[in-house]
Amino acid sequence: MIEAPHIDTLSRILPEEPLLMMGAGPVPIPGPVAAANGIVINHLGGTMARIIDQVKAMARYIFQTESPWLMGVAGPGSAAMEMAVTNLIWQDTKTLCVCNGFFSHRLAEMARRAGGQIEELHVPDGHSADPDKIKTLLETFRPEVMTIVQGETSNTTHNTELPEIARLAHEYNCQIIVDAVCTLSTMPLNMDDWGIDAVITGGQKGLSSIPGVSLVAFSERAWERISQRPVPMPHWTLDATLATNFWHRASYHYTAPVSGLLALHEAMRLVCEETLARRFDRHRVSSRALQAGIEALGLDLYVKPEARLNSVVGIALPETVASKSVCAHISDRYRVEIAGSFGPPIVRIGQMGEQCRVHNLFRTLHALGSTFNDLGHRVDVPSGMAELENQLQKSSPE
Ligand SMILES: *Cc1c(COP(=O)(O)O)cnc(C)c1O
Repeated sequence: MIEAPHIDTLSRILPEEPLLMMGAGPVPIPGPVAAANGIVINHLGGTMARIIDQVKAMARYIFQTESPWLMGVAGPGSAAMEMAVTNLIWQDTKTLCVCNGFFSHRLAEMARRAGGQIEELHVPDGHSADPDKIKTLLETFRPEVMTIVQGETSNTTHNTELPEIARLAHEYNCQIIVDAVCTLSTMPLNMDDWGIDAVITGGQKGLSSIPGVSLVAFSERAWERISQRPVPMPHWTLDATLATNFWHRASYHYTAPVSGLLALHEAMRLVCEETLARRFDRHRVSSRALQAGIEALGLDLYVKPEARLNSVVGIALPETVASKSVCAHISDRYRVEIAGSFGPPIVRIGQMGEQCRVHNLFRTLHALGSTFNDLGHRVDVPSGMAELENQLQKSSPE
């Protein structure tokens, strides 16, 4: 017989004081979200139906769409990516994948595995995708579907021309899947106005909910394509038409992640209460002030302003400083978690949801500057902190 192992309690494993989560997600969650995550209710029945109705109503606002085809998925942002990709792409679907970095490559890999015939457009690191290049490929390759990220979290670039790219996709009768996992509710994304066919988001980034419950929205045009697909959808759990059992008919597909959905409900309710306009403002002011503070420390930002993502800030590392040492030191010594990178020599600080609060900015910038000093790369912490304060004062509404 295998004996029961000796297991430490969580209180022995977790730090005494929670670390401040300023990486690329998960991000801190507000109290009501944490409280909702502690509740279990029946996954079917009147109470759940009412909650789902409200989640869809809030999603229509947050995605800016009137499409009824909104649904959640039990799983990470990647599960929502896979749901969008595998429902719209099948054997030989000609697919243009705009690749800015790690996550947009993941979309391309998913499309390839779904059987699509893939053409990748590689965008140079730190640049936005160029609509002219995409237009040429729309003309020559004639894709049926395109995948693209709004914000490439891995190298902190923003595809600023997304509205124009989506317009072009429409002009060439190509459906466009947009990964907005790190950007949704941190910056404008107008699904209907821009003509986007599928939008993907996760819980643990812009929305400041927990990881593990994600959302995807399909346009009417996408829904037509899904309804007419010539081959069966190979993934039963991710089948969007089966998901309507739960999301539109209050009946059973699989047992919904009830606690996570309650948490998401609270997180989205807080977005509605704040309003998108004020939330975008808060994110812009917070991220720009942090960026100015980092530069005043004497450090360089990785991406030039014209293609820079605000939702995740990338800091270029001097050759003598390793990303691992920065992340380990800032966590051990200052109790702040930031992110390393998949690829470029940078560290990343998140500016999503609850990360964009003034008190978190000061603590994080101080910890970052002090970490560089501790590691022997001199930076000017007082100037950085002063610049952060100046920027915030300049942008305050009064
Ligand atoms: C985080 C992220 C993902 C993946 O989300 P997971 O929840 O880790 O699966 C995909 N795309 C972008 C742009 C992201 O930032």
